[in-house]
Amino acid sequence: MAGLPAGVRYGRPIRGGIHPPYGKELAADSHTEDMPLPARVVVPMVQHTGATAKPVVAIGDVVRKGRKIGEAQGAVSAPVHASISGRVTAIGNFLHPSGREVPAIVIESDGTDDWAEDVVPPVEPEGMGAAALRKIISEAGIVGMGGAAFPTAVKLNPPAEKKIDTLVINGVECEPYLTSDDRLMVEHAVEIVDGVRFMRRILGVGRVVIGIEDNKPASIRAMAEAARSLDGAEVVALETKYPQGGEKQVIKAVLNREVPSGGLPMDVGVVVQNVGTAFAVHEAVRHGRPLIQRIVTVTGPGIAAPKNLLARIGTPIKDLIAAAGGFKGEPGRVILGGPMMGSAVYTLHVPVVKGSGGVLVLHRSDTVTEEYRACIRCASCVNACPMGLMPNFLSVAAEALNFDEGKQYHPYDCIECGCCDYVCPSRRPIAQQIRFIKAELRKKAEKAKAKAA
Ligand code: SF4
Ligand code: SF4
Repeated sequence: MAGLPAGVRYGRPIRGGIHPPYGKELAADSHTEDMPLPARVVVPMVQHTGATAKPVVAIGDVVRKGRKIGEAQGAVSAPVHASISGRVTAIGNFLHPSGREVPAIVIESDGTDDWAEDVVPPVEPEGMGAAALRKIISEAGIVGMGGAAFPTAVKLNPPAEKKIDTLVINGVECEPYLTSDDRLMVEHAVEIVDGVRFMRRILGVGRVVIGIEDNKPASIRAMAEAARSLDGAEVVALETKYPQGGEKQVIKAVLNREVPSGGLPMDVGVVVQNVGTAFAVHEAVRHGRPLIQRIVTVTGPGIAAPKNLLARIGTPIKDLIAAAGGFKGEPGRVILGGPMMGSAVYTLHVPVVKGSGGVLVLHRSDTVTEEYRACIRCASCVNACPMGLMPNFLSVAAEALNFDEGKQYHPYDCIECGCCDYVCPSRRPIAQQIRFIKAELRKKAEKAKAKAA
């Protein structure tokens, strides 16, 4: 990027990584549009890491937008709110983007789109302490908007023995094609920085570092300008390289700190939050609004008019595709998320959830269908791995069903970024094989635990 704004520096390049075709130009300049109010939403009780929320409404209840309809259960969970006003017409198991059926609540719109009576701005948030702010964030059902969907209030409450000194704000958005965070930063930089201010107060840290890849110059400018109002905050431009947005990668790139194998960002004094999460915190703390909508990029060569849409949680993705002009040509694969870490869906009736950053439609000719072949030991996957792993050995161990052998090569450090698959000339599904090893090792550990009990 030529000419960084005043006060913005470049971060360090990450280890490994790849440069896939980015395709961001398809939607990057499309100003976010509000989706028409959906006639019906299916709101899953599973939209976060942790325990499934418990429905707290009954069939026939009339609910207004923002009313809590699912209560968090346990220490790691998040409540769920009505994303439209209307009547609850069903409670049961419905398809989820993960491919499973999960508990969900169906609301048919009454067309009014009124907020619930208890959605009111908190009084004097500027004077609130950490516990009160965390409670607002928790009650608003805010989760990590970068895709992991970990409950934000929990992440903002690290154990006392972990001394946090820096809040890293992740505006990297390294997944090809996706532009929802980019648009949010361009259109709402001031609100994002306001949310960051509250998160920083909760953590009691002075330093804030906002990482953004240099293929988003307008976002870098907007965030640098907004961050001037926050002492101790700086914007760091990062070389465009996938998967720079991984938590461990962004920490290394902006702070030159290495999260240890098996460790977490808090082990190196850092909490990472996504820009979308910071915006949701602003909405909750300033306006009392729970998380009921998000920006979704609907894009790809198979979409007629790629764009960024502000969609209510629970809207079926078929409505988003229709709002983006429908399919262009014959769709080969519809992916929720980006091409590297997203997952293909087999029906367009799955709903938008809190972690849905994009809907990507590829043509049949863009998807790899050839069989994978034997490893030729070229080491391309080793060079591409941002975690410094030996993906080739993990792949061969998975194929041989030799999970104990695989364990020696640190499968739990794999962030499932797919760089190894991307570069493999033998088309080996390495990331999927590593997921398989992890699942089998977990099963084995659970069995051993049950036997010992
Ligand atoms: S999927 Fe895992 S093994 Fe493959 S490159 Fe990414 S981190 Fe490395
Ligand atoms: S890139 Fe593929 S063929 Fe090359 S070493 Fe890795 S697994 Fe083997």
